[in-house]
Amino acid sequence: MISININAAISIFPKDGKSFKTLYERADITLQQTKKAGSGIIQFFDAAIEKEAEKLWEVFNLIKKASEEKLFTFYYQPYFYTKTLKIAGFEALVRIIDRDGKLYTPDFFIDYLENSQYLSSFENWAINEVTEKIKKWGTNISLNISGKTFSNPILIPILSEITSEIRNKLTIEITERIFINNPEYTMQILSDIKRMKNPPKIAIDDFGTGYSSMSYLRDLPIDIVKIDKSFIKDMVEDKKSLAIVETIIGLAKKLEKMTLAEGVETEKEFTILKTMDCDFVQGFLFSKPLPEKKIAV
Ligand code: C2E
Ligand code: CA
Ligand code: CA
Repeated sequence: MISININAAISIFPKDGKSFKTLYERADITLQQTKKAGSGIIQFFDAAIEKEAEKLWEVFNLIKKASEEKLFTFYYQPYFYTKTLKIAGFEALVRIIDRDGKLYTPDFFIDYLENSQYLSSFENWAINEVTEKIKKWGTNISLNISGKTFSNPILIPILSEITSEIRNKLTIEITERIFINNPEYTMQILSDIKRMKNPPKIAIDDFGTGYSSMSYLRDLPIDIVKIDKSFIKDMVEDKKSLAIVETIIGLAKKLEKMTLAEGVETEKEFTILKTMDCDFVQGFLFSKPLPEKKIAV
C-alpha cells in the first residue's frame, strides 16, 4: 500500500493579504511551520507564525553576519571563593556586538547558533579566545559547551592540543541534558578528557533543573556542581528550595565535588550560602559579566 502524507496551509483573502504575493508568502511560511509539527496537518496562517518566521530570519542573518564579520565577543563574569571573596575564576559568556554598537545576549541567538552551520567555527574561536585569556590573565576560565560540540569527536583532539598548563585552568561547563541522551558516550568522553595530562575541570551547569540523577554525580568525573539560580532565588522565601540547595551542597561534599551557587543577587542569599559552606559564589551581587577591557587581574 502506498500512503502519501500531505500538509496544507491556507491564507485567506483579504484578511491575510490583498495581493497574490503576500497570500502566497504567508501560506508558504505556514506550510514550513506545519512540516516541523509532523505530517497530515492543515493549518491556517496566523500572525504568530509570521512573527516566529521573522525572528528566525533575523537571528539567522545576525549569526551569519557575526560569523563572517567576527562580531562575537566574550563578556567575563567572575566567581569567588565564598569564604574570602577572592576571585576564583571567570565564566566566558558570549555576546554579539553589532557594528552600530547594539549588544545581543545569548538568549536571543544561542539555540539558533547551536543548530546552525556556524557552530563549529564559533566553538573553535571560543576555545582559542578563552585559552588566550587564560594565558594573559593566568586565571581559571569556564567555557560553556553545547551538546553538539560535546558529542563531536573533534573535541578531544582540540583539547589535547592546548598546552597542559593552560588546559589545567580551563573548565568545561556542560548541562545535564547532555548526559540524558547518551550516558555511556558521555562517560567515555569525560574519561578521555580526564586521561589527559593536566585535564580541564568539568562543571555541571544549571544543576537541579534537569534530571539531576544521583548516579551521574557518583559515576561521572565531575569537579564542580553549579546550583541553578532558580533555587538560589527561591531559597530565601521557600523552605523546600532551601532544603534542595542544602542537600545538593551536602551530597556534593560527600562525593568530593566543589559547589558553586549561580545568580546570587542579595546579601541574604550570600549569608545562607556561607553557612552552608558552598565553595564558590557568582552573581550580580558581586559582579555582572564584564567586557574584557573592564577586567584587571
Ligand atoms: P548560563 O551558563 O547558566 O550562564 C549564566 C547566565 O546567568 C548568564 O546569562 C549570566 O549573565 C546570568 N547571570 C549571572 N549572574 C546573574 C544573577 O545574579 N542574576 C541573574 N538573573 N542572572 C545572572 P547570559 O550571559 O545571557 O547567558 C545565557 C546562557 O547562554 C548561559 O547560561 C549559557 O547556557 C549560554 N551561553 C552563554 N555563553 C555561551 C557560549 O559561549 N557557548 C554556549 N554554548 N552557550 C553559551
Ligand atoms: Ca554556564
Ligand atoms: Ca547556569
